[in-house]
Amino acid sequence: MNERDTLKVNNKGHLEIGGMDAVEIAKIYGTPVYVFDEAHIRNMMRVYKHTIEKFYKSNGLVVYASKAFSCMAVYAIAQSEGIGVDVVSGGELYTAIKAGFDSSKIYMHGNNKLPHELKLAIDNKIGTIVLDSYREVDMVDELAQQNGIIQNVLIRINPGVEAHTHEFIQTARTDSKFGFSVSDGAAQSITEYVLSKKNLRLRGFHCHIGSQIFETQSFIIAARKVMDFIAIIKKETGFESDTLNIGGGFGIWYNDEDPKLKLSDYENCLKSLINAVKEKAQEHGLNEPFLVIEPGRSIIGEAGITLYTVGAIKDIKGIKKYVAVDGGMFDNPRYALYQSKYTVMLANRASEPCTEKVSVAGKCCESGDLIAVDVSLPKAESGDIMAVLSTGAYNYSMASNYNRNFIPAAILVKDGKAEYIVKPQTYDDIIRNDVVPEYLK
Ligand SMILES: *Cc1c(COP(=O)(O)O)cnc(C)c1O
Repeated sequence: MNERDTLKVNNKGHLEIGGMDAVEIAKIYGTPVYVFDEAHIRNMMRVYKHTIEKFYKSNGLVVYASKAFSCMAVYAIAQSEGIGVDVVSGGELYTAIKAGFDSSKIYMHGNNKLPHELKLAIDNKIGTIVLDSYREVDMVDELAQQNGIIQNVLIRINPGVEAHTHEFIQTARTDSKFGFSVSDGAAQSITEYVLSKKNLRLRGFHCHIGSQIFETQSFIIAARKVMDFIAIIKKETGFESDTLNIGGGFGIWYNDEDPKLKLSDYENCLKSLINAVKEKAQEHGLNEPFLVIEPGRSIIGEAGITLYTVGAIKDIKGIKKYVAVDGGMFDNPRYALYQSKYTVMLANRASEPCTEKVSVAGKCCESGDLIAVDVSLPKAESGDIMAVLSTGAYNYSMASNYNRNFIPAAILVKDGKAEYIVKPQTYDDIIRNDVVPEYLK
């Protein structure tokens, strides 16, 4: 758990989040349920925002990467904190617009934005579109012309840095589906193409080097490379970029293999990044660019927990013990997708010592439907409330109705009070779009 005091064990020995007893939450709202701690979300938004204010004269914008967790309430929180958001689909964009989000602070990403998504974006006057293909350059230019506007755009480039959790690699040339490589001249060619378009205003460049990164150095190296590229483009074309968007990717704590970062660690990381940008601007005689960062996971990940009720327990003597819960890969597919690790606890027995190692299984008809493997718990019993921590990012947003299970509700807790931000589904929601053709009736 983090330094914060909004996630702790209370004097009943229960897990408490946002001033509410997790066992109480499970009783009121049922399980499975996603619980989000508003104070933590706001603290994370603020630490990035204040760091840019303090060390970069407010010459930048924090943009919440909403693919981590998208629902109308989260855009409302971002808006009230005065930050921007990025969206990667028409659905996320529509959600932001319906939540009343200031469209000038919306960035749109995606390697294959669809015509109708771009139209929705431009009709709603969104601030910036991050271009990632020639086809898109043409489409955005044409839509902007139709609407009689000049659209602000960035180009996604590949600076040749790829980062993973605890390491990063520099590659001469990347084979990513995203962006244009600097090393083979592709980034420069598309830049020249965009500059030739009358209805586009190129503001600068974007890169996103990976996710769940703890190495500050990888962000610094990426920023330096993009600044070098900006200098080359200025020399070759006369165009000086006024924006550097360095993407997201800041890591969070999932289990004890990860560092527990404090707010000051996030501040220090961003401060080092800012210093690297300033140094490069000076070295190349460039203006200090408007700096955009796009944290997703680090804003929302540790703010969320999922509560389940323990059901069946299966002890395969001497081999493995499964504790099954009322959720699974339909609310959290991350173990099935990438063997992600989590910290699991019994919310109603949070101060009891762990006495056994178990695997937590979901209720889907898939052997791979696991939430966690070989985690330590007190001896679990049916009816216990299980909490899985750090499930705020890429859980609800990747949830599905697989096996026609319900996507759980999400609630927001703050100062001992809870509110729905996503209501629970019903059986009628499950069949809402089903149609039986006449001839089958
Ligand atoms: C996913 C993504 C982010 C956010 O990444 P996190 O690891 O969640 O911080 C930011 N920018 C872009 C373009 C992304 O695709």
